Amino acid sequence: MAEKCPFCGHQNMAAKQVEYLYRLGERFMMVTDVPCLECEFCGEQYFDAAVLKRIEADFQAIQHTGKQPLRTIRVPVEAYSSL
Ligand SMILES: [Zn+2]
Repeated sequence: MAEKCPFCGHQNMAAKQVEYLYRLGERFMMVTDVPCLECEFCGEQYFDAAVLKRIEADFQAIQHTGKQPLRTIRVPVEAYSSL
């Protein structure tokens, strides 16, 4: 499975579990423990299409069929120019 990094061409790709932030407009869903391959040189992360489809399907289930997520967090929003 591990190959060259398509972004920088480095050879070492590590299998990791990371946090993934899915966004659709102003709606977000954070998913933990998402499997990916991460380039050990440039840090670019690569996700299987099946993994991303599963996340999108879960987001749709939460938005449209009332599925309850594991937990919900509140996120503050700021404009840099108003700091
Ligand atoms: Zn890379």
